[in-house]
Amino acid sequence: MTAEKNKANSWAATVLTLFPEMFPGPLGQSLAGKALKSGIWRLETVDIRDFARDKHRSVDDAPFGGGPGMVMRPDILAAAVDHVRTETAENGTGENAGPVIYLSPRGRRLDQALARELADRDGLVLICGRFEGVDQRALEGRGIEEVSVGDYVLSGGETAALVLLDAVVRLLPGVIGDAAALEEESFAQGLLEYPQYTRPQVWEGREVPEVLTSGHHEKIRAWRLARAEELTKARRPDLWDRYLRAAKSRG
Ligand code: SAH
Repeated sequence: MTAEKNKANSWAATVLTLFPEMFPGPLGQSLAGKALKSGIWRLETVDIRDFARDKHRSVDDAPFGGGPGMVMRPDILAAAVDHVRTETAENGTGENAGPVIYLSPRGRRLDQALARELADRDGLVLICGRFEGVDQRALEGRGIEEVSVGDYVLSGGETAALVLLDAVVRLLPGVIGDAAALEEESFAQGLLEYPQYTRPQVWEGREVPEVLTSGHHEKIRAWRLARAEELTKARRPDLWDRYLRAAKSRG
């Protein structure tokens, strides 16, 4: 399929940032990069600074109430968001820009379930913060959701946006050739993935578990499930509890 043919219905990401040159960055390579070139997904960046109105093109100001750092102004951020929404409404394909998400340590934690939800939409709009964050009124006034990539603080939303996009794009139909790979991997069934092995069969005296070379598919499946359960129980009691509860409710 040509990029042009695919354009109208491909999954679309619009990233609002002060550093557009950070994109596509690593997403221009490998799986995501190939999918971008073939038109399975589209990426547009919007420079928030283009919506500044003074001659210094400033986008931030000191926080009311005092404290360190600077805060992104609500009027400028809202103007950028409105611009993106108007553009998508006008481009005639009838498509929806998808949810507008501010990458933020206070947000809903990104996990595989959220990545899956976002992959099922038409696309999304991501806002990358800088400084101490953005004015609360812009978030409320434009109905912006917040998503976090983990309990740590980054210096800007751009790397978080790259993480989120990577997790979502690889779930889009056609990005990973072998769809079965997605069902086997960590989190897909609520478990961490079983250990993987490849050639050589003996390496530094360590042998590949015998069952994997047996050719006995049912035994291999059972072995992998047992290892996945063991690993999840030992490393992630939170996931293990959820897995047990889900298994119980399935009966
Ligand atoms: N003062 C803020 C942190 C600002 S960090 C606070 O304490 O919550 C600057 C920018 O980096 C944020 O606006 C956000 O867009 C991004 N960021 C930092 N940590 C993040 C995380 N864990 N997940 C997603 N975005 C994050």
